[in-house]
Amino acid sequence: MKRFAWLVLVAFLLTTGFTSQESPEGPFPVRGIHFMVPQPDSVPAFVDFIKGPLRSSGVNTLILELNYSYRYESHPELASENALSQKQLQDIVAACRDSGINFIPMINLMGHQSWAETTFALLSKYPEFDETPGKYPNNKDIYCRSYCPQHPGLHKILFALIDELISVTDATDFHAGMDEVFLIGEDDCPRCRGQNRAQLLADEIKRIHAHLAEKKVRMWLWGDRLIDGETTGIGEWEASTNDTFAAIDMIPTDIVICDWHYEYSPPTAGMFALKGFPVVMSPWRKSDVALAHLEQMKHLRSASNKTLADRALGLVHTTWTSPENFMAAYSGDPSARESATESAECFKKLFKKLQ
Ligand SMILES: [Zn+2]
Repeated sequence: MKRFAWLVLVAFLLTTGFTSQESPEGPFPVRGIHFMVPQPDSVPAFVDFIKGPLRSSGVNTLILELNYSYRYESHPELASENALSQKQLQDIVAACRDSGINFIPMINLMGHQSWAETTFALLSKYPEFDETPGKYPNNKDIYCRSYCPQHPGLHKILFALIDELISVTDATDFHAGMDEVFLIGEDDCPRCRGQNRAQLLADEIKRIHAHLAEKKVRMWLWGDRLIDGETTGIGEWEASTNDTFAAIDMIPTDIVICDWHYEYSPPTAGMFALKGFPVVMSPWRKSDVALAHLEQMKHLRSASNKTLADRALGLVHTTWTSPENFMAAYSGDPSARESATESAECFKKLFKKLQ
């Protein structure tokens, strides 16, 4: 009996000794994929795709970018044409739950309030929220419109949308987007003109974070506005050259950063981890980039101490086409768009290695 107790103690010490020194091995906590919203008619096919190929590929996280493509009960005026019903959204959520996949709803906040000539529902119904009201007719000469984070009427509406998505989907996580915000602190905004852009961005992130934290919901964010685009040479898309990156030191560090890079794999995930953030890396259509991201995340986990290694959560693949296109490309449909085919092939290669 005494001898047995000793054996147990030695075994316990050996085990704890190993786990405290050894970097985490095994599967990444996040093996994810990001989708735009499917058309209502395609929800059954999307549900089958989740329960079939996504599940068997080992996906455990699905981010669905809903934006205004949901029939919000709180704000029916903000639902776009072809928005999903509550039942359709819950069918997708149930398919994820049945497949062991964490469902994360997303609204892209701040930037991306328009695409080409189309201004999305928030700013077309509430033009007073526009950071550049009345300017850039037909969205000419700009990438996307932004809302003004300091408009006093804005957050009551945003929080109603966020709360409704969280409630309807039982989500524990929420992705707030905020990538490629180019219009911020504009001279055309009477509230923001002349203000520090990093502070403006950080304040908006903190407002959203505080609201989510009250509900014990974890916030996710694209990482580009938090990277210094000039020093790194990464540029103005996958990083920031519009004076926002200092926000990285002003925001809560429990936000999960989606560090997206589509052309090559700069060592930015390590920077986010060192700053205190949990981080995933996101590829799109280039398999060599996806596999380089995977190597980088593996290296972060194996070559760092436990504190940093634990922040390297994994990967989230991006599709940047409709789910319909991606599903067609995945099944080898030759009529699928080239970018969808490349993204589907990239997904397959990445997840084969992830398993
Ligand atoms: Zn403003």
